[in-house]
Amino acid sequence: MSDTSQLLVRRIKDGTVIDHIEAGKALLVLQALTIAGKEGNVITVALNVPSSKHSKKDIIKVENRFLEISETNKLALIAPRATINIIRDYKLVEKRKIQLPESIVGIFKCPNLKCITNSGEEIRSTIDIIDKEKVMLKCRYCARILSTDELVF
Ligand SMILES: [Zn+2]
Repeated sequence: MSDTSQLLVRRIKDGTVIDHIEAGKALLVLQALTIAGKEGNVITVALNVPSSKHSKKDIIKVENRFLEISETNKLALIAPRATINIIRDYKLVEKRKIQLPESIVGIFKCPNLKCITNSGEEIRSTIDIIDKEKVMLKCRYCARILSTDELVF
């Protein structure tokens, strides 16, 4: 981790730091976590932070909120390489990687407008991850192959 990101990560007393988000994806991450700032806690978003691992990354710090695994796993398709750091009293008490699940139900809409999941029927969208390395996705209902950029909330 570079010195810059060390500083950005360290300066929080209690809460969650989402690090190593692919540059440009931080706002999508906030959307997926339905963090809009209305709760009143301090949220810091750093975009395009220099990183030694990849060239640039985004970082999000959510103070006084400890994100659950079920919440952060929603990020699997948006920021699969992100790391979740849980901070308590300035100490890193938990560091976890996001786990790509076999499938994601009900979070994203299929971009195929003719897909039955977009027909108004009570069918929850189901996106299968068919290749975890390349993060290749497939709608279970219309079988369309999707890239993460095509996902619609
Ligand atoms: Zn579909």
